[in-house]
Amino acid sequence: MSKIRSIERILPPPPAHMVGDGFRVHNFFPGNGQLGLQRMSPFFLMDYGAKVDFPPTDTPRGVGVHPHRGFETVTISYHGKVAHHDSAGNSGVIGEGDVQWMTAASGVLHKEYHDREWSKKGGMLQMVQLWVNLPAKHKMDSPKYQPIKREEFGKFILPDNGGTIEVIAGNYKGTTGPASSFTPIEMYNVRLQPNSAVSLSLPENYNTGFLVIEGEITISNKTIKSDHFVLFANDGTDIEVKAENEAIVLILSGEPINEAIFPYGPFVMNSKEEIIQAYTDFDNGLFGYLED
Ligand code: MN
Repeated sequence: MSKIRSIERILPPPPAHMVGDGFRVHNFFPGNGQLGLQRMSPFFLMDYGAKVDFPPTDTPRGVGVHPHRGFETVTISYHGKVAHHDSAGNSGVIGEGDVQWMTAASGVLHKEYHDREWSKKGGMLQMVQLWVNLPAKHKMDSPKYQPIKREEFGKFILPDNGGTIEVIAGNYKGTTGPASSFTPIEMYNVRLQPNSAVSLSLPENYNTGFLVIEGEITISNKTIKSDHFVLFANDGTDIEVKAENEAIVLILSGEPINEAIFPYGPFVMNSKEEIIQAYTDFDNGLFGYLED
């Protein structure tokens, strides 16, 4: 039985803060308690870098070497180029529209900088970084790295020139996304043309929220402006999105991980003991080595 999902909250972008000197982000969740720690589980954190212009520089801006354990970082670029290096030996540059899906799991060191060539010209950066939690049984798996180019996304063409749905993970009406995840996740970019509408059906128990990247959309007669996040109640399946002008919306929906959570700093574990262990392992060099 399909049933309309209702809007629980519409969140304007919280005040921005800098991550290193390269990322000016709005932390929508977990935030300072504005949403519960697990309200968007399996998504633990969302930092949104709304559009910002960086002047040219020969020294790329960004954030230096730091560790992660217990989750995955998923970075989506909408404008600008970001480079990544990690202690598992993986590196790459994500350009406009591309995604980098890094599984830290048992632990990596990584650094995230604007691409050197891009930095020389400077320009507009707009990106999203998500921390996707891992269930306890996968927290100590080996690290993994999935660079995903925009061309590799599943592409569902909407009827009547309505636009396209780019499927990053999961499945929209038979079109599947290239990213592999440890728990069921639906992640799409919905790119709407003027005067179009799209219907989405997402399992009722999946925690679901949309981030408006470009333009504005209407859902259940409510307008959601660009840079705003709409959180849905878990009271139905169906959502109809309408756009009067061009719009881009990031769709996040996932089956919650029903486990205790203990996040601290760059680690997301299940207990305080595991956090202490993470710091001990980090101090003992078990996360490997990465040059700054
Ligand atoms: Mn990081």
